[in-house]
Amino acid sequence: MSVLRDNGAMTRPAHPEPTTATVKQLFAHAFRCAEPNCTRPLYRQDDATGELILNSRIAHIHARRSGGPRWIQMTTDANRAPDNLLLLCIEHSYEIDERAGSYPADLLREWKAAQIAEYEQLARNWPLSDVDAGRVLEASAQARTQQHADAVVALVRAVRRLTLETRRARSGPAAHAAAWRALIEQTHRSMPMWDDEGERIYVEPSRNETNQCKAALLKALGTARTSLDPTADAVKVELAAVQASRPSTRPWTDWVSTAVDDALTASGTWPGLPALEDNTGLEDTLRELERACDALTAAWRGESSSPPPTRTEATPSLPEPDPLQAHRALLDLARPYSRVRHKPYEPELRAQLADAAGSAAGIPPVLSALGVGLSTTCSLAAAVAANATDEQLADLAMHDAARGPLSAAVQLLAETARTAGNRGRDIARTQAEAALVDLWESIDFADSECFNSVDANGASVLHHGARISSPDLARQRLEAALASSPELLLPMVSYCAEWVEKVNSDDWRPVGMARRYRELPAWFPTAAVVAAAHQIDLSDIKVDSLAKPTLTTPNHCSRRYCG
Ligand SMILES: [Zn+2]
Repeated sequence: MSVLRDNGAMTRPAHPEPTTATVKQLFAHAFRCAEPNCTRPLYRQDDATGELILNSRIAHIHARRSGGPRWIQMTTDANRAPDNLLLLCIEHSYEIDERAGSYPADLLREWKAAQIAEYEQLARNWPLSDVDAGRVLEASAQARTQQHADAVVALVRAVRRLTLETRRARSGPAAHAAAWRALIEQTHRSMPMWDDEGERIYVEPSRNETNQCKAALLKALGTARTSLDPTADAVKVELAAVQASRPSTRPWTDWVSTAVDDALTASGTWPGLPALEDNTGLEDTLRELERACDALTAAWRGESSSPPPTRTEATPSLPEPDPLQAHRALLDLARPYSRVRHKPYEPELRAQLADAAGSAAGIPPVLSALGVGLSTTCSLAAAVAANATDEQLADLAMHDAARGPLSAAVQLLAETARTAGNRGRDIARTQAEAALVDLWESIDFADSECFNSVDANGASVLHHGARISSPDLARQRLEAALASSPELLLPMVSYCAEWVEKVNSDDWRPVGMARRYRELPAWFPTAAVVAAAHQIDLSDIKVDSLAKPTLTTPNHCSRRYCG
């Protein structure tokens, strides 16, 4: 009893190899591969030297080893007899064993019969010496193991090189991120400030400094990512070799390939901008790559191997996209109109800004958001239209008054009036003011639609209303609405709140913002709110939700706006 040198069966007993006499007999009755459509001869001629090179292997119809392809119990003599053996080109000799289910013994016996029939018809064969026959046996038993081993060893080596290089390449982006954090910390220390509630607030680095840090980090990430391409390509080449030599490893080679792609993506990614500390995202992808490679080599050895994971679509550790990127870009386009007075009216840009005001209404008016908030957006919209004719401005005012949410309409009209006033255009200013008054008077505060929960700038509506009528009149309208519809209490209280930004007292990061109910404005219907609170059942409402309602657009809460 001999021990197989073939894959995965080192300890499994096997029948002995065929004899050299059997090998000679096989080659004396065949010319080309037995696979019916394959034209490869059993030996091929080297183009350069003219030397004949073995181009085939002896395959077993019923395997030599227990549990192998098409294995059945049979005597040793029958197992190593010509009837159980088939000559195939190298590729097909692997194919019939790798996908044994597609190549049943009866099919292979048909191939064998056809191969012999062809020999009898063509009378072309390969008369071998004993030495030749010995080489055929050696090649058939060992070449497969050797080829596969070469491929899989090279793969393991390439994967190892890729993980080392990926870790090393991280130092570039890490250094730039650290420099960015140092700049932020230094700026924070330089100017200690507190808000009117005694909470610490922090000055951020200038946009220019921030942009430089950001550009340097992104560039370093790009460099790190690109530097890994040659090594990643080498892994892909070795994967192809493993898969070609053993097609049954396909699920595991796919796993490794995906893991390589994920590691490359992670190598060009930072956990967040501005520069946070690195997280485990990249290291996770490298561990996954090593796990996939281990599983592949185990599968190749024939050991029971962990199956490839089902791919989930969750992409690891991509940076949070800036939800305001397009908005910022639009405002940047418009800023020149606020700096100089000669630029002509741009209807297209004005229309985009007025649309953007609708979204900006959801941004709470806190310090860090001033540059992108509703007031800035509307002021830039007014600047872009500052040189429009009175007729054009009247038309804009009519459309603006119909916009939603309410705070966007009010703020657009108010800014148009203010800008016209600044430029001495009394007709245009009066038009816009009149449109604003009409809008204010048309508001039905008893309609719940009024207190749109995505509108974070409700207080500005009331401030403007109080300005153009009076704080008392504004308050009376809210009181009347509450008296007739006490259920409006919570939406109204939320809507009318001022905002305050909070930062973590231990580190510099803004942790969010909250509505504030101190120093209530004169138009706030305090007495009616208290009365309505007694009328409706507040028992199922958490005190928290009154004191600190959460914003319905959470992205706006957690992000910083300053750059
Ligand atoms: Zn073939």
